[in-house]
Amino acid sequence: MSEVDIPSIPYLGQKTDEITIYAGPCSVESAEQFDEVAQCIKDLGLRWVRGGAFKPRTNPHSFQGLGEEALKIMKDAGERYGLLTLTEVMDSAHCELVHSYVDGLQVGARNFQNFSLLKKIGQVTADSHKMVLYKRGFAGSISEWLAACDYISDCGNDNIVLCERGIRTFETATRFTLDIAAVPVIHKQSLYPVCIDVSHPAGQRDLVPSLAKAAVAAGADSLMIEVHPNPPVALSDGPQQLTPAQFRQLVGELRELAEVLGKKVV
Ligand code: PEP
Ligand code: MN
Repeated sequence: MSEVDIPSIPYLGQKTDEITIYAGPCSVESAEQFDEVAQCIKDLGLRWVRGGAFKPRTNPHSFQGLGEEALKIMKDAGERYGLLTLTEVMDSAHCELVHSYVDGLQVGARNFQNFSLLKKIGQVTADSHKMVLYKRGFAGSISEWLAACDYISDCGNDNIVLCERGIRTFETATRFTLDIAAVPVIHKQSLYPVCIDVSHPAGQRDLVPSLAKAAVAAGADSLMIEVHPNPPVALSDGPQQLTPAQFRQLVGELRELAEVLGKKVV
């Protein structure tokens, strides 16, 4: 594609000076595990906690998530700590259930072009306008991503956050290749805010801080960061999850960087 093919539309999302962090464990494993992370997030003055209840695992024999039990754990912690909650919905049949428990619904990379799920999520959130965090697929182009947003918005909810989470390339040094250019390209081509999930492309926790700082510098509106009280025993994505101590340090560093840009991390 040549440079001139990209239309330039003013980006309304730039009116906000806030960088939102969606942090939490890959999977909700127990009330104790989730509470420890929620407490850390609350203490840092952040707003959102994420966690997986229904997990899209490559192997059917891997941990599949606690399902509704995890949704209950999230709702309870969200109320006690005063945090908003975000979780993935994998199946059209679960949309109402998930919607009844959480504040934000995530579409995972593996459902990037599951158009019936996108439509169902749009319908279920049409009245509440709960946020839909819509992740890019491993092999999805930005134009396919923006086109598919209309499946959600046409059903009545345009409260959509586009989440870049790495794409598949020939490179194997990282789990996925983070397409940082997605931030300015989406800001030029749409009015939707952009989130960068820094954990899934990294695949290893020591890379997470650099990717997070790059995302802030590139103008991302939000970040997704996986945090687990004890990553070595995590039931999914252990190697890439930060400990609460590592997360606290990173949030401090991101706040310094955000200040330089006239923004604040929430
Ligand atoms: C997740 O957020 O835990 C997840 C499974 O993400 P993705 O769909 O990007 O792989
Ligand atoms: Mn994960």
